[in-house]
Amino acid sequence: MSDKYKYDFIIVGAGSAGCVLANRLSESGKFNILLLEAGRKDTNPWIHIPLGYGKHFSNPKVNWLYTSEPSDSTGNRRISQPRGKVMGGSSSINGLVYIRGQKEDYDEWDVKKNKGWSYEDVLPFFCKSESNQNKDSIYHGKLGELCVSNPPEKHVLADAFINAGLDSGYPLNDDFNGKKQEGFGYLQMTVKNGLRSSAATSFIKPIKKRKNLTIITNILASKIIFDGRKAIGISCLENNIKKDFYSNKEVILTCGAINTPQLLQLSGIGESQLLESHNIDVIHELPGVGENLQDHYNGRIIYKTNAKNTLNDSLRNPLKGLREIIRYVFLRKGFLNMGSSVVAGFIKTSNKITRPDLHISLILFSTDKAGDALHKWSGFSIIVRLLRPKSRGYVRIKSNNPKDDPMIQPNYFMDKDDRKDLVNGFQITRKIMNSNPIKKYIISEHSPGNDCQSNNQIEDFLAKKGGISYHPVGTCKMGDDKLAVVDYSLKVHGINGLRIADASIMPNIVSGNTNAPVIMIGEKAADIILKDI
Ligand SMILES: Cc1cc2nc3c(=O)[nH]c(=O)nc-3n(C[C@H](O)[C@H](O)[C@H](O)COP(=O)(O)OP(=O)(O)OC[C@H]3O[C@@H](n4cnc5c(N)ncnc54)[C@H](O)[C@@H]3O)c2cc1C
Repeated sequence: MSDKYKYDFIIVGAGSAGCVLANRLSESGKFNILLLEAGRKDTNPWIHIPLGYGKHFSNPKVNWLYTSEPSDSTGNRRISQPRGKVMGGSSSINGLVYIRGQKEDYDEWDVKKNKGWSYEDVLPFFCKSESNQNKDSIYHGKLGELCVSNPPEKHVLADAFINAGLDSGYPLNDDFNGKKQEGFGYLQMTVKNGLRSSAATSFIKPIKKRKNLTIITNILASKIIFDGRKAIGISCLENNIKKDFYSNKEVILTCGAINTPQLLQLSGIGESQLLESHNIDVIHELPGVGENLQDHYNGRIIYKTNAKNTLNDSLRNPLKGLREIIRYVFLRKGFLNMGSSVVAGFIKTSNKITRPDLHISLILFSTDKAGDALHKWSGFSIIVRLLRPKSRGYVRIKSNNPKDDPMIQPNYFMDKDDRKDLVNGFQITRKIMNSNPIKKYIISEHSPGNDCQSNNQIEDFLAKKGGISYHPVGTCKMGDDKLAVVDYSLKVHGINGLRIADASIMPNIVSGNTNAPVIMIGEKAADIILKDI
């Protein structure tokens, strides 16, 4: 074999899925693996301190800083789309919440001709990667690389939120990733002893000295190299200099739901008119590339509280701030060891449905929008989101230059059922927040406030002020229909030697956050590939 073909597998993108794959495929020592990452090493200390996630929303050193196209359905705003651009990808800048979704999500994937992706099939892969510090049941793993743990301490507002849920007739749930998701309870976090468990710290750091694993950071994959319809390598830009790498087995794309379809389109796989309009030769027409974009659009209610221990208080008061630092350094407790939210409720908005369709979570601080400065008064926020929205958007290249941002049009809040259901969910949430256990901590509803009461007013508020949960998925969906991009073994339809294994392959968004599901996709992909080879 010539030196040109020294790698067996080239993995493009060291995010949630790419890091898992690099670990598993290099484990036996039989294969040479190349892992390419556009971002830098994860040396920024704020990546590792859980609360630091708030610092990365506008940091170009670790974030692609995309924005969406304006849309009528969301007041023609451009909504910011953070994506991790660093070792660990979005798992290095995310809110650290560990949620897998519902059994039925995966069973529905499987029914749609994706053999091997039912809940029963994927549960072992969730457990394989997990090292759960607190839960001990058939739903959890203890021996994996990804550390999952309870928040380090309880909080009076979090307890009040759970009690508000119970008071409103919903069950207590001490494990959203166990038998049932429904109910109110504390969330689990991807945290190990006070430090973030990202895909990079969990799956790459311990094995990065493996001789058969080469990792290159600060390198942008710009085009897949084909021999006819077989992917044989990848063309990259490193400091603006073109570099080509070849694989003698497979190229695996793990660039995430925005960049994977972008890279396919740049390489001549996608809808032919789009490619031709940018002077790209069509290697294979696959109209679904970039389509089917989904995310969890949300509404935020902000409360002024008489509880004097929100993050707003601690960061404003130097003495309280110092106390937080001391508690974190010596006890691994306090706000510095906190992810985006600590408690949640997963509920049904109607008795006619069989599983939760609404996710409500409490955040122990308040800002006007994600990444903004904290309010000067003591406040907390409630995020309300539909678990399975129907609105669909797309990702399309704007030019044939790999350095240009792709066009991201999520069409959030476009579907009329989404509008009706989120308004309904918002009203239900307000009722819960008006129940005695939490009401006593509320001074006033700061936003949207008392003037926003009717369904129409709430719909208008949600359209103009709604945010997102940073869970884009589905843009290279798995399946066998006209818009499917990969089959159930994650091979790109019509092309040899090319697979995709990241958030883009989800046919439908899962009922919850997406990091744990994508790590599972990485595990499952490695298993499929190793059995195939
Ligand atoms: C701000 C934020 C908060 C979130 N909070 C949560 C949460 O609390 N809980 C949760 O479960 N999920 C959360 N998520 C979502 C979750 O982190 C993602 O769904 C998941 O990490 C996606 O994994 P991925 O492997 O598909 O992509 P990513 O992890 O984004 O990895 C893709 C990698 O590919 C690299 N790449 C892209 N293009 C190229 C290229 N051309 N060449 C080379 N490299 C390239 C990127 O730099 C990146 O490192 C959040 C996400 C964000 C951004």
